Amino acid sequence: NLIMFWHRRDLRITDNTGLLNARELSPQVVGLFCFDPHIIKGNDIAPVRMKYMVGCLQALQKDYQKAGSQLLILQGNPVKVIPKLAIALNAKAVFWNWDVEPYAQKRDYMTMEVLRNQGIQVLEQNWDHLLSSPHDIFTGTKRPYTVYSPFWKNWNSKTKAEPVYRLDNIIGLDDAQKEIAANNGVIALPSSRDLGFVWESQLILEPGETAAKEKLEKFCKKTINEYQEQRNLPSIEGTSQLSAALKFGVISIRTVWQATLKALENSCSDETKVSIHAYQQELAWREFYQHVMYHFPELAESAYRKAFKNFPWENNTEYFQAWCKGKTGYPIIDAAMRQLNQTGWMHNRCRMIVASFLTKDLIIDSQWGEKYFMQNLIDGDLSSNNGGWQWSTSSGMDPKPLRIFNPISQTQKFDREGEYIRKWIPELQSLDPEYLVTGKISPLERHAINYPEPIVDHNHQQKRFKELYKQATDCK
Ligand code: FAD
Repeated sequence: NLIMFWHRRDLRITDNTGLLNARELSPQVVGLFCFDPHIIKGNDIAPVRMKYMVGCLQALQKDYQKAGSQLLILQGNPVKVIPKLAIALNAKAVFWNWDVEPYAQKRDYMTMEVLRNQGIQVLEQNWDHLLSSPHDIFTGTKRPYTVYSPFWKNWNSKTKAEPVYRLDNIIGLDDAQKEIAANNGVIALPSSRDLGFVWESQLILEPGETAAKEKLEKFCKKTINEYQEQRNLPSIEGTSQLSAALKFGVISIRTVWQATLKALENSCSDETKVSIHAYQQELAWREFYQHVMYHFPELAESAYRKAFKNFPWENNTEYFQAWCKGKTGYPIIDAAMRQLNQTGWMHNRCRMIVASFLTKDLIIDSQWGEKYFMQNLIDGDLSSNNGGWQWSTSSGMDPKPLRIFNPISQTQKFDREGEYIRKWIPELQSLDPEYLVTGKISPLERHAINYPEPIVDHNHQQKRFKELYKQATDCK
């Protein structure tokens, strides 16, 4: 009675609901991961993310070995290669946890149909990576929410599932089955380089379940209590840095939520409680964006608000290159883009600032920025990235019609001493913080240190953007 468990965004064996469902059916459970050419040959993959993911798969392989079984690796179209292997191994069932993304939905339904036609059992929708199923949170008129605040109120009032525990004493394939597997597509785990993705630098995050748990523990001991104050300061480690682990499900969202509840129990001041609630609200943003992606899959391709569907973006490619390389002449923008290029991660405050700058100052299509982020982020995730870009562009589900961030006043608020700027832009290290923060660096000085002049004037571009926006909204 072999059950195969197909891992996708749940690269762990602890607190994995689908995997435990498999174990309840039979003690012989093997893990499965499939490198899908449709995904890896797409143009929105970051080498750093691939390296992190392969590291997580290596850790998962070890965890399966310790538990007494194996993680099998396949490469090819999952709709074909998974049923082929399941039939060859005479598997009773193939289980997986469901995913909200439009491509994943289509792929999963097709795989489910092929398997069921062969008499192989499949688990019904199981939203392991969310605290609430997208079928459980609706407005009073039974519609999906399109605004975060009422979503949060409703979502927060629901009882959350508790973590389910570790899976031990499972049985893997016997020698004969191993041979069948090898003859039916099972391969050794490739490196990210084998797959064509080169990331030379050290990863800023250690891959795997154990490392993610340690990060959560450390965060909940101290930093979470100061989160409200510190989460907006890019020069310090004031956030949890769990986004990549949550994206790949290296840690479960139930485990993270439970840790926040424990932190609340242990907190002894109103201030720390406010901080912990602020963190919980960020976790709810993640859920909000996944729910809306599920209910409005068209978001993956286009703006939500009509005014932005045919917006007259100017798409100057030189400006775009300057933005990508961190050479716009605006220190906070350049520091943030260089942090992204060098580490694969960018602080949330800076993600909002650079996204606003690309769309409102450079008047470049947000989809260019969204794609660049996906090609470079270690935590790149369709729903959160799309949600973040649509919010920053003002094209998404945000009750405020237009937000424009001023890069100078944002720096004055959030990088008061210019520490973050100095860290990421070495040529500015010797300048007086005041010049960094106000951006008032003389042309002579810029020339001397080989730092560019601002490529556009913020005030001028802001006026131009508002005119374009007015025309676009008047037309609708
Ligand atoms: P923390 O502040 O510790 O937050 C805890 C967790 O909550 C995060 O790990 C994340 O899972 C979730 N979260 C926090 N803020 C948000 C948010 N605004 N939207 C959705 N989830 C959130 N996040 C991604 O995971 N992947 C992306 O591709 C991504 N792209 C973004 C693009 C833009 C333009 C913007 C403005 C935001 C984007 N975010 C994305 C959201 C956010 O910036 C990151 O989740 C956060 O910076 C990750 O750092 P952290 O884990 O330390 O966050």
